[in-house]
Amino acid sequence: MSSTPTPRPLPVLAIHGGAGTLTRGAMRADQEALYRDALSRVLMAGQEQLALGASAVDVVVEAVRLLEECELFNAGRGAVYTAAGTHELDACVMDGRDCRAGAVAGVSRTRNPILAARAVMDHSAHLLFVGAAADELAARHGLEQVSPNWFGTPHRLEQLRRAQRLQAGALRDHDGQDLLDQATPIEASGPIDEETKFGTVGAVALDAAGHLAAATSTGGMTNKQVGRVGDTPLVGAGTYANDATVAVSCTGTGELFIRACAAHDVSALMAYAGMSLEEACDRVVMQKLPADAGGLIAVAANGDVCLPFNSEGMYRGYVRVGAVRPVVAVYRSK
Ligand code: ASP
Repeated sequence: MSSTPTPRPLPVLAIHGGAGTLTRGAMRADQEALYRDALSRVLMAGQEQLALGASAVDVVVEAVRLLEECELFNAGRGAVYTAAGTHELDACVMDGRDCRAGAVAGVSRTRNPILAARAVMDHSAHLLFVGAAADELAARHGLEQVSPNWFGTPHRLEQLRRAQRLQAGALRDHDGQDLLDQATPIEASGPIDEETKFGTVGAVALDAAGHLAAATSTGGMTNKQVGRVGDTPLVGAGTYANDATVAVSCTGTGELFIRACAAHDVSALMAYAGMSLEEACDRVVMQKLPADAGGLIAVAANGDVCLPFNSEGMYRGYVRVGAVRPVVAVYRSK
């Protein structure tokens, strides 16, 4: 007796542009619209690729590349500054078909760090390259190199200056002086507070062939120490994909996601504890990670999508093939 095969779930792409605290005071509708439009455009481009049969890996890499090119987000151009006023970018891509992955950390010359991560996955026997050697590998594979200044914007520089004034103020405060008066607030550029926003970008997708992939890219955290690496380029912490379970991309305070092995934990809870995607995400984001750590996006092998966060907001969205328009959100829905 032959049983009817279960139909394949529709291909789907989900993306994030960072999580954080909502901007204090009135949020400007035109600023929110900028973020929503940027996310929608990336989602629609990915939807078209998926409809044409593109692989999940190609779709997540292109989605993250487009987000890197957008100054609104803390990845590629528009990346945050280190304490030394430089840029060190991290990225990772993982293919759920065979759990192959490629990653780079601390690159400062490759225009699109996610393409460098892809080059590592496709052309190297190793998985993670750091610093100048990672840029050199990217250059050898024909990826565009830029001056390290190219990543910066005046807005990000002001963010660094403010973080440093606050830090210096905090020191002085131990001597009994007032710290907050010394820091002039910067104008918010989006609905999520620039001072507590984690603007990392990421994408997860399920393709028409039933394969999963995840990609994440970041400038890290404003005023980070030179040489600091967060969760983004670490398989199982900030990025993970396995066709048997789920594809995950995280955003938030990297150290907390590394300690929690957050991305792999979602997969492990599904594989070993038989949890649904929603249960696994709830366990990791709402119960395991400390409050305000950030969030993640996840798409499961069965096509379920979950975009949980435990901060106040997260730039996020998803779209299925055939949908009239993408779903895009910034705040927590009631
Ligand atoms: N997770 C990133 C890091 O710690 C930051 C972010 O998500 O924005 O480097």
